[in-house]
Amino acid sequence: MQNPNPHAVLLASPGMGHLIPVVELGKRLATHHGFDVTVFVVAADASITKSSLFKPSQSSPLNLELLPPVDISALVDSTASVVTQLMIMMREALPSLRAAISAMKSRPTALIVDMFGTEALAIAEEFDMLKYVFITSTAWFLAVTVHFPYIDEEAEHKHRIMKRPLDIPGCRSIRHEDTLDLFLDQTNKNLFSGFARVGMEISNADGILVNTWQDLEPLTLCALKDEKSLGRVAKAPVYPVGPLTRPIGQSSKSEVMDWLDMQPTESVIYVSFGSGGTLSAKQTSELAWGLELSQHKFIWVVRPPVDGDASANFFNVTNSHDGTPSYLPNGFYTRIGKRGMVVPMWAPQNEILAHESIGGFFSHCGWNSTLESMVNGVPMVAWPLYAEQQMNAAMLAEELGVAVRPKTQLNAAVIEREEIAGMVRRVMELKGNEMRGKVKELQASAKRVLTQGGSSYNSLARVSKECELKLHRLGAMALGG
Ligand code: UDP
Repeated sequence: MQNPNPHAVLLASPGMGHLIPVVELGKRLATHHGFDVTVFVVAADASITKSSLFKPSQSSPLNLELLPPVDISALVDSTASVVTQLMIMMREALPSLRAAISAMKSRPTALIVDMFGTEALAIAEEFDMLKYVFITSTAWFLAVTVHFPYIDEEAEHKHRIMKRPLDIPGCRSIRHEDTLDLFLDQTNKNLFSGFARVGMEISNADGILVNTWQDLEPLTLCALKDEKSLGRVAKAPVYPVGPLTRPIGQSSKSEVMDWLDMQPTESVIYVSFGSGGTLSAKQTSELAWGLELSQHKFIWVVRPPVDGDASANFFNVTNSHDGTPSYLPNGFYTRIGKRGMVVPMWAPQNEILAHESIGGFFSHCGWNSTLESMVNGVPMVAWPLYAEQQMNAAMLAEELGVAVRPKTQLNAAVIEREEIAGMVRRVMELKGNEMRGKVKELQASAKRVLTQGGSSYNSLARVSKECELKLHRLGAMALGG
């Protein structure tokens, strides 16, 4: 059946960090560009459907569906890297995706996958759909990904073994201390070949959407489009469509928001390591001491530490007399008093960052968190943990000047409390004003590019135009024209 609107099918890989921006992209396609949108979600189990994103809402412009959960326990060791597990899960989900698309009443026009879903682009070809990849990270990360299959042995050796910067044509080089996890793990060849495959598949798409914007990464975006530079390997047109972040929800009352309401403007630092980031036991304790030492107000989203050396007993979380969990320093809650708030496991981050009492964000530099900080004009302490977060931290601190970073380098045992307190003070006190000025400029430019006529709005309008043309071609074919 021919549909009057283009119909985009989006595929989100497991993890809130992937699902959130994919849903936001879907919403924008539906509300600003007249698309029908179906988002298919891949997950290990059905618990994801408890997320507020799945709450049925009459106003939701898109159809969000969980594909049958995939169990990969027989296929891969649970100690394998997250990236390896994600790639296998996405491969295992392909038959259900194919079946779901084939069962659709209205024929979809385009398939948009995130970077772990690139194998599904073959399904788009089967169904004569346009195929796009949505990079839920920076253009710089896209640059290294498409360049990756062409890195020769000598360049790899220099970067991996001799710890020299990795050159990417037309872009900022990546210093070894800021590099991707996969260059540090010398044993995992599967990860290396998997990443090279993704790099090749991305460049075979009809277009590459990136959750960034022109003014944020002009040099890299220019190189990606330049036929004489990275454009040669990226091949597909690159569309910066960001920053796509979750809007602030209805002001739901909660203890943490009530507490924030009582604090002075820009007086609180928010501390969180994303949806999955966890610190070691020693680092968790040192962070608690550092926050205490800084004398600044804070909200800290705390998870029980995970430490390869810790005994099982360590994770039996018992509370001391004042309610402090055993993995935080004894008496922490008493000493902190009303100066800080500890939130277990999960907090309404976008609401918190948008609150006027927030003056800084102590973050693991996941790209969604980073964008949320920028669109709310909040300077950061950049504390990267894994994946491409070191690159994000380098960009924030050294290129954009909106974050401070630990001096202690990657893989250092533990960042000490004095250094932590120092970073908090730099963001919340004098140096903070300079960074705040810069991040407020980014905030304004982020707003500008998304409004009608702005560069990111126009990028998505171009994608939309391609889909409309495809829809008309398909319509003409159906009529035998
Ligand atoms: N998030 C949240 N509350 C939390 C932790 C995370 O709402 O307590 C959201 C956060 O706002 C962001 C996403 O989860 O949108 C995390 O994505 P990010 O890319 O920052 O990191 P990841 O979790 O993928 O490492």
